[in-house]
Amino acid sequence: MAKIKKKIKTIKIDLDKCNGCRACEMICSAFHASPKYSSNNPERSRIRMIREPLRDVYLPVYAGEYAKAECMGRDKYVIDGKEYDECDFCRASCPSRDVFKEPDSGLPLKCDMCEDDPPQEKPLCVQWCINDALIYEEREEEVEEEVKPEDVEIGLESMVDKYGLQKVIDTVARMSKKE
Ligand code: SF4
Ligand code: SF4
Repeated sequence: MAKIKKKIKTIKIDLDKCNGCRACEMICSAFHASPKYSSNNPERSRIRMIREPLRDVYLPVYAGEYAKAECMGRDKYVIDGKEYDECDFCRASCPSRDVFKEPDSGLPLKCDMCEDDPPQEKPLCVQWCINDALIYEEREEEVEEEVKPEDVEIGLESMVDKYGLQKVIDTVARMSKKE
């Protein structure tokens, strides 16, 4: 397989600096609203705050890959004496919980590093975090070229998992007649 140079983008999270202000959720959901900046709804954000002030838990988590099924075994983390709930660190849009799903359609959400049109030089959540809890880093790596499924394919896959293939086919056929 051919090797290509790829820009790897990373956001490092400094948990000690996050105060749970949720500015990151706000700007992410506004940037991805349609039309852009027309609304903000944390449920549409690709970064979610796990926020439990009574336990001093403030954990920003980025939406990652779509998961078809929930895990049968789960991890629990204890860091600096704080116990985090099951799934707190998980980035998947998965059937066992409501986070990282577009609230109207139920389609999986995934962080695109603000490469949506117009692409941002630096992720907006990083720019809006005035506490510097989110630190952006870039590097180049040589990787094997791979064909990744497009967002629309992942969205369709999640619909098929939820409603079944026939129902999705019937719905698309009905919609195309209306066009
Ligand atoms: S903007 Fe920064 S400090 Fe505020 S919730 Fe997000 S990560 Fe935490
Ligand atoms: S990098 Fe962009 S898309 Fe990803 S969570 Fe931050 S604001 Fe949202």
